[in-house]
Amino acid sequence: MRLLVIGGAGYIGSVVATRLLAAGHEVVVLDDLSTGHVDAVPAGALFVPGNLAATGQLERLLAGQVDAVLHFAARSLVGESTVHPELYWANNVGGTRALLQAMLAAGVTRLVFSSSSATYGQPESVPITEEAPTRPTSPYGNTKLAADLMIGDLARAHGLNAVSLRYFNAAGALGGAGERHQPETHLIPNLLEVAAGRAGSVQVFGRDYPTSDGTCVRDYIHVDDLASAHLLALDATAGDAPSGRHRIYNLGNGQGFSVLEVIEAARRVTGRAIPLEDAPRRPGDPAILVASGQRIREELGWVPARPGIDQMVADAWEFTKSHPPA
Ligand code: UDP
Repeated sequence: MRLLVIGGAGYIGSVVATRLLAAGHEVVVLDDLSTGHVDAVPAGALFVPGNLAATGQLERLLAGQVDAVLHFAARSLVGESTVHPELYWANNVGGTRALLQAMLAAGVTRLVFSSSSATYGQPESVPITEEAPTRPTSPYGNTKLAADLMIGDLARAHGLNAVSLRYFNAAGALGGAGERHQPETHLIPNLLEVAAGRAGSVQVFGRDYPTSDGTCVRDYIHVDDLASAHLLALDATAGDAPSGRHRIYNLGNGQGFSVLEVIEAARRVTGRAIPLEDAPRRPGDPAILVASGQRIREELGWVPARPGIDQMVADAWEFTKSHPPA
């Protein structure tokens, strides 16, 4: 198939693009490099600089025989979203609306969308199923939920076949594709920066949560397993599937690790001390976020190949060592 991967220079988009190429697809990457890196675009993909605001360019790309779209491009920092929500609504919702409009105009009906566990907010119970209430606790989560709702409405009205994948905590790396956010806010890359000697210590955001060791529990998923789910989701949007469908799947291993457990894994894997510093809770952080992966396992046959936290940290560590900051 000929696939348009929007945001394919970013962390998850570049890993999925790599896997799509390996599966024999033709890949066009559209990315404005606002947070991505041109060297993350896999060799073999056609790179087109640009974003969803340039609707003319988008329409021309879609008119070029695109079979399906995978949409990763989004602003994704919870903290920033509380300070500049307008940027999140413009990019995450406005950009997705522009994409849907252009897809309808070009007659492209298949979409895989990057949604987030942030659509659920503070869960009433774990593991979190797709039926759980959606009450986001940040503008970021609001925009991901709004985009999901918009995709569902347009899918039903116009016969689109769409899948939203609600990621829990992506981790690890695949070869040359890994996590390089600027600024970096995520736990594992922050730990590995300290392990690599590029930062002095890692802050632990809160030790008074109602969890076994007082730190937050998250469901980490290897980015390569996440990519496998995208390939299955893409198949699920195929023409013989019923038209006008929007399916939502949570994407996590169903196993939680506390911040301190991840720190122990990073110390084990790197053999480095990794000094810690206690810090206040980060606003908006729920105590426990763990996915139920039952629906995607049952309906799409997704089976994670690398659920171990040490493997995720080890792959991320290889990437960190080979990618010193610019
Ligand atoms: N965290 C931390 N120190 C850091 C970064 C994150 O203690 O330097 C905690 C954070 O409060 C959360 C967990 O680690 O409980 C995972 O955070 P991350 O930002 O990686 O992902 P999120 O769950 O926010 O998507």
